[in-house]
Order: sequence, then structure tokens, then C-alpha cells
Amino acid sequence: MEKVRTMTTTTAPAPGTRPLAGKAALVTGGSRGIGAAIAERLAADGAAVALTYHSRDDLADQVVKRIGEAGGRAWAVRADAADPEAVRASVAAAADRFGRLDILVNNAGAGVLGPFEQIAADDVDRVLATNVRGPFLAAQAAAAHLAEGGRIVSIGSCMAERAAFPGGSLYATSKAALTGLTKALARELGPRGITVNLVHPGPIDTDMNPADGEHAGLQAGLTALGAYGRPADVAATVAHLAGEGGRYITGAAIAVDGGFAV
Ligand code: NDP
Repeated sequence: MEKVRTMTTTTAPAPGTRPLAGKAALVTGGSRGIGAAIAERLAADGAAVALTYHSRDDLADQVVKRIGEAGGRAWAVRADAADPEAVRASVAAAADRFGRLDILVNNAGAGVLGPFEQIAADDVDRVLATNVRGPFLAAQAAAAHLAEGGRIVSIGSCMAERAAFPGGSLYATSKAALTGLTKALARELGPRGITVNLVHPGPIDTDMNPADGEHAGLQAGLTALGAYGRPADVAATVAHLAGEGGRYITGAAIAVDGGFAV
């Protein structure tokens, strides 16, 4: 299928500005797609970036290499978001590697779509373990390292807010759970000067949801802009939340969805 229209974006920081210099970030699922764009953007903004991945060590290595070639600092570690020990170990390793941890981005996610009646119990366990328990435990582990000014950003989905077509019961359930986590953590960590936010992407052109996929036209048509977004669009909002501009934003859900929720 021909690619549906994607928005054009320029999101790179202005030359010479490195608003996250001296900070360290961990991005889960950073080997491709939205997570890779977030890792590269935070690194371009000056943060040292650790990224996790599930199985594509080749792609994770490429992201690390690109960041290094651009003058940044990055490191990749395999950590299945559905494995509690791996999650905890990756947070500890990132903090150890960089001597600090300032920003956690919970991006790794699994998407299982299909008729409600056909979703297996194993799928429910796997998706909730990856999309909900993973971010919960990563935030728990990260909170031990975050100081005043710390940031937690989770990647939800426009499907948590609007059931625009059938088949999203499990995925929407998992992503909607992040609303509760985000608000409760914002309240709990606020007194320590740590912000906690949620970003809801709309259809973004990645391996998970390619702009030339079977249902791409439908999804683009459900946005106000009539187009897919790019991973860098999501990364720009995460960078804003991670930086000084995000200091008074907490417990919020921000849609980067081309108007899907409208
Ligand atoms: P991709 O499938 O393109 O990339 C997924 C990334 O997450 C890869 O780096 C992958 O690692 C990693 N990953 C997958 N499962 C795990 C796991 N169990 N443990 C650790 N890492 C894992 O996905 P997107 O970039 O499209 O999606 C990123 C996030 O954005 C997800 O949470 C998704 O639900 C959400 N989202 C995406 C939308 C879209 O339209 N694309 C819309 C709304 C939300 P590896 O390369 O090793 O497999």
C-alpha cells in the first residue's frame, strides 16, 4: 500500500544549545521507532542516554553509534520490559554507568489488537506485564536515583483515550492504566520536585504501525490533520517535558496525535 501522508517536522535543538547537558536518561525500547527518536533527541539535547531493547541488538548498536557520531554519549542494554529483574537491573546499570539518573522514559510497549472474544489470557498477561508492570517497576527503581528536577515520562497511546475502532480492548486497557500510574506518581513524587507525565502518540510511522500498513489510511483519516506523525514528533514533546520547560508540568497527559482525540 502507498504510504499515507506524514507530517514534516524539524525538531532538532538549535545549534549550540544543549539544555540537558550533565543529565542522564534511560529510554526503554530505544532500538527503533519512537524510542530511538527519543534517545537520539535527548542525546542531541546533551543528556547521556542509556537505552534498553528486547532482541534487536544490531539496531540498538546502530542507535548508540549514531548518537556517538553526533557527539553524544549512549549505551544500550538488553532488558525485557516484561521481566521484573531485567527492568530493575537495567535501571541500576544505567545509574551506575553514568553516575546518576535524571530522566526515565517508559517507551517499550507491546501492541496486541484483535476481537475482544479472541484475546487469550496469556496475551493479557504479556501485554500488561510489558506495558504496565514494566513502567511501574522501572519508575520504582528510578525513583531511588532521581533527585529534585527528576523526570518520568511514559508513552501511552491515543487509543487509551478514544476507542475509534474495534479491536483495541487489551492495548487500550494497558495504556489507560498508565494514566493512574502517572497521576498517582505525580502526587507521590511531587514533594521531591520530580515530575511524572504521560504522552499519548497518535498514529506514528514505525515498524509497529507503518504508514503503508493495511489500516494506515483509516488511522490517518481519524486524525484532524489527516496524516501520520513521525517518531521525532513524539521525541520533541518528551524533550520538552524532560527539560526546563517541563518543570511545572506534572500528572499531565499530552496528546501528540495530529488531533486523533478530537
Ligand atoms: P516499535 O515496534 O517500532 O519499536 C518497539 C521498541 O520497543 C523496540 O526498540 C523494541 O526492541 C522495544 N521493545 C518491544 N518490546 C519490548 C520489551 N518487552 N522489552 C523491552 N523492549 C521492548 O514500536 P513504536 O516505536 O511504534 O512504539 C513505541 C511506544 O509507542 C510503544 O509503547 C507503543 O505502544 C507506543 N505507541 C505507538 C504508536 C504508533 O503509532 N507507532 C501509537 C501510540 C503509542 P527490539 O528492537 O529489540 O525489538
